[in-house]
Amino acid sequence: MSVRVRFAPSPTGYLHIGGLRTALYNYLFARRNGGSFVLRIEDTDQSRLVADAEDDIVSALQWSGLAYDEGPDIEGSFGPYRQSERSDLYREAATRLLKAGHAYYAFDTPEELEAMRDRLSTDGNPSPSYDMSTRSSMRNSLTLSAVEVDDMISSGAPHVVRLKVPPSETVTFTDAVRGNVTFDSSEIDDQVLIKSDGMPTYHLANVVDDHAMEITHVIRGEEWLPSTPKHVLLYQFLGWRAPEMAHLPLILSPTGGKLSKRKADKQGIMVLVRDYIDAGYEPEALVNYLAFLGWNPGTEQEVFNLHELEEVFSLNRVGQSGVQFSPDKLRWYNEQHLRSLDNGKILMRAKPHLKASGIQASDDYLLRVINLMRDRITFAADIASNRYFFEDPQSFDAKGLQKRWKSESPQLLRLYAEALEEPAFDAEAAEGALRSVAEQHGVGAGQIIHPVRLALSGVTFGPGLFELMELLGKETCLRRIRAAVESIPAPSPQ
Ligand code: GLU
Repeated sequence: MSVRVRFAPSPTGYLHIGGLRTALYNYLFARRNGGSFVLRIEDTDQSRLVADAEDDIVSALQWSGLAYDEGPDIEGSFGPYRQSERSDLYREAATRLLKAGHAYYAFDTPEELEAMRDRLSTDGNPSPSYDMSTRSSMRNSLTLSAVEVDDMISSGAPHVVRLKVPPSETVTFTDAVRGNVTFDSSEIDDQVLIKSDGMPTYHLANVVDDHAMEITHVIRGEEWLPSTPKHVLLYQFLGWRAPEMAHLPLILSPTGGKLSKRKADKQGIMVLVRDYIDAGYEPEALVNYLAFLGWNPGTEQEVFNLHELEEVFSLNRVGQSGVQFSPDKLRWYNEQHLRSLDNGKILMRAKPHLKASGIQASDDYLLRVINLMRDRITFAADIASNRYFFEDPQSFDAKGLQKRWKSESPQLLRLYAEALEEPAFDAEAAEGALRSVAEQHGVGAGQIIHPVRLALSGVTFGPGLFELMELLGKETCLRRIRAAVESIPAPSPQ
């Protein structure tokens, strides 16, 4: 049987980095095993749908390079791939479960459910479930007569269908990450399978579809682990073989604890893939980092492209314990991937940012800027953020001036500018001229280098000064040096 896995997001919000990691592990597992990767949209909870969430999920997957083989927009033999278009299947399954006595109707109103919780809550169990210990005191097809049930259903009384969890059973399954997992059936509630609006819950629809779509392995986040025994029971009751299970470790905040949206916001951590796209991250960097968030190759190698990951990924090397999300490490990955691109590709990546910053320059000039900066940038957008490559500095770093602009600086810079007037001008000539001015006036080269850098760029750091000068050209260098000498006030004597 060939491997089939699925990524099954609910379009209740934009794609989260945790969701992208789940998609990635499914994708890698499929590719590694020559299987199929399916995108299924789990949109049965109509009240929580977000209109453009599906588009966001699809475009974020495209950006990441995780191409799926079947999905709402890619026809396959197991469609449709949106649960809202598959209602008949769920109804059929519910009917079978009802007929076989593995499910029952329940008519309890929200007030009655509330009253049950009030009545039965104890300190040890503050929110009792609807389960084998409470169902007998509720209004359902187990406690009412068949005639009453038929009447209520035909008169349109609101009702749900619940799973009838059997008593004294041990529900066991093997998880590829956690080994044998066991639940006692007394811990499992009588899960609602069909809601009062007639729609299935996640649990029923998920099991029905994993079966119907011939999914062989369910790879998903650890938060779904408590749901799995319910699914195992459903497979058993429906007479279907359950897929293999693998639950991925939780993603933790850098300070520990689950990386909730609220915590992430507080710590300034972006959790939506969209935010990383907008911030100019390289797709391969995010993918590479997320691959390591719960898995490792067992070697020292850290930098992988998607294709390389496809060759080495295995569920055996997925860990059980939660993994801390590190924005710093992700930035490091971004540097690694960005710097592995050739100048032309970096230019392509930088273009939208240059445009947004209103920078106009020829490709030829931009490629020279990139050549100078490629080992210093973290993001392609950094090419656009050093404006001194494109325009004269409008201001000078105050701390830099305080430290580097001395009373003799204007005179030294004037002399240097004079020396630069010589016809030949390139990095070597600029350096030669600077060193000879320094020598002639008995000062260290640094006494000219630092103020010149400030004059040219307005800041105290950047690429090699003489390479920068060659790039800017003689005219620009002279203009900027002379303008700085004119406009920077002499330092107050110390
Ligand atoms: N729809 C669920 C989610 O939003 C799918 C969980 C699963 O993979 O079973 O994550």
